[in-house]
Amino acid sequence: MEEGMVTKIRENLERIQERIETAASSAGRNPAEIRLVVVTKAQPVEVVGAAITAGAVCLGENYAEEAVAKMGALGKSPNLEWHMIGHVQSRKARLVCNSFDLVHSLDSIKLAERYNQFAGEAGRKLPVLLEFNLGGEETKFGWPAWKEEYWEDLTPVIEEVTLLANLQVMGLMTMPPLMADPEQSRVFFRRLKQLQQYLVQVCPQVDWRELSMGTSADFEVAIQEGATYVRVGQAILGPRPAR
Ligand SMILES: *Cc1c(COP(=O)(O)O)cnc(C)c1O
Repeated sequence: MEEGMVTKIRENLERIQERIETAASSAGRNPAEIRLVVVTKAQPVEVVGAAITAGAVCLGENYAEEAVAKMGALGKSPNLEWHMIGHVQSRKARLVCNSFDLVHSLDSIKLAERYNQFAGEAGRKLPVLLEFNLGGEETKFGWPAWKEEYWEDLTPVIEEVTLLANLQVMGLMTMPPLMADPEQSRVFFRRLKQLQQYLVQVCPQVDWRELSMGTSADFEVAIQEGATYVRVGQAILGPRPAR
């Protein structure tokens, strides 16, 4: 493994951790409530290995097969978590269920039922977050929630998801439209927080504590608005190689 790469990533991790702490303080929050997901999608396995050596403990991947290949190459380590943050096709549900510690991107009842089945077969409970589309972009996945009047319509199906015995619903996730200025993301992060408060009201039997929001471009704003997971790739690992 290249020594220089580890050093560079370790410096970046420290810098991001400092920025997380500053953002948390600016909002009167405890930085320990905020966990950093290092997004390794499209990065070669050497870079992922270097990130682990540099101290990354929670990795985010978007593509099931790519991630599973990396897991195989790097081997299991007890303190390392793999998080699925991308849209999952239903035929990949079993692979995801068997390989990941937390799914941020649960976006349909069909997928929820599949995860529930496979988690049951594996004798485990799969922790999941529900992904919401707050910007109304057609290219984005997630439960449609960009108008408040949709929230009530979504409630029955969300309740159905929360009743699946082998899923552990832990919170919400969003990926807002790409904005030129991080301040422009604030409205979407605030919206996810409001949606969380709504779900606490209508599905109080679920612990909706987690809010997964914010990337390299806007994680500090997301923390000010209540993020408990931030998903940061490029600011730690550099630009992703072309796929
Ligand atoms: C790629 C990705 C990120 C990280 O983006 P960066 O710009 O590398 O920080 C976060 N969340 C999701 C869902 C992603 O697909």
